Amino acid sequence: MDTLTEFLAHAVALEQEAVERYEELAGAMRTHNNLAAAELFDRLAQASSLHAGEVARRARELGGEVVPLKPWQYTWPERDSPEAADLDQSHYLMTPHHVLRMALAAEQGARQFYAGIARDSADPQVRELAKTFAAEEAGHAGEIERWLERYPDPDAHWQEDLDSPREPS
Ligand code: ZN
Repeated sequence: MDTLTEFLAHAVALEQEAVERYEELAGAMRTHNNLAAAELFDRLAQASSLHAGEVARRARELGGEVVPLKPWQYTWPERDSPEAADLDQSHYLMTPHHVLRMALAAEQGARQFYAGIARDSADPQVRELAKTFAAEEAGHAGEIERWLERYPDPDAHWQEDLDSPREPS
C-alpha cells in the first residue's frame, strides 16, 4: 500500500463493499421475515454509504479521481474486504444484538486495516491519512458499542424458531 492512488482506491472500495454486504444481509433477513434485523442492516448500509461518499470526496480533494482497481489488485489482509460484515456470523433468527456485534467486528476490522497501513506504508502521506481513517473507524466502533448498550445479549435460546413445526409431545 505504498502509493496514494492505491490507498484511496482501497478506502473507497472498503466502504462500498461494507454497504453491499449490509444490503445483502438486509435482503436475506427480509426473506426470512426477520424485520428487526433487516431494518438494522438497512441503517448500517445507510451509515456506510455516507462514509463511502465522505471517503470518495476526500480522495478527490487529495488525489483527483479515484480509479477503481481490478478485483485482483486489491490487497486485503483476508479473503473479504475488512469492513464487510462476516456472512458466516449471520443467522436468519439473529437479533439486533447480533447484528450490532457483526457491525462492531466490521468496524474493528477496518480500524486494524488502517492502523496496519499507518504503521507499514512507505509513503508518509498514506501513513498520515491511514492514521486519520483508523481514528474515524475507531469512532464508528465506539458508536456501535454505545448502540449495543440498548440491545443486551439475548438469552441463549434465540436460535429456537417458535414458528417451526414441532414434534407432538
Ligand atoms: Zn467504518
